[in-house]
Amino acid sequence: MELDALFEAINDEALEPNSDIAVLRDVLQSVTSRKNFDTKTMKRFGELTGKAHQHRRLKPSTSEIEFELVGLSASARRISEFALQVEDILVTVDLTRVKKCEGEDCEALFIDESKNKSRRWCAMAHCGMLRKSKVFYDRHRRVTPIVEAETKLGAKK
Ligand SMILES: [Zn+2]
Repeated sequence: MELDALFEAINDEALEPNSDIAVLRDVLQSVTSRKNFDTKTMKRFGELTGKAHQHRRLKPSTSEIEFELVGLSASARRISEFALQVEDILVTVDLTRVKKCEGEDCEALFIDESKNKSRRWCAMAHCGMLRKSKVFYDRHRRVTPIVEAETKLGAKK
């Protein structure tokens, strides 16, 4: 699943609060906070995925099973693709891997694809480094730097 475009869209800070993309964001947001979807979000998500399924066809002339969306404007197709991807995430991804960045003032959502589910930031280069520089001055509180030190020692063996 190629999800970069989806996450780029839902993590856009300029997202319109009531837009279709915002609905998709709300769905994933509910997953990260382990909350139930509210009825309005559920209903709109159902409409989005319903519409997407209506326009989804098996691609002819390919040996592999592939789907395409037909009879939609470019913008509607984009939303439909995203809606199907979110649906796919809900069904196929381990939902404890759907996370919200722990960075201060960062609301970005992402899928943690690391082996031990240890990813905590949207981007280490941004939120992760901010966090680490704070940890540097407050070594008692966080376990992360110790874990990393051990990993480094282990690598030397
Ligand atoms: Zn972040």
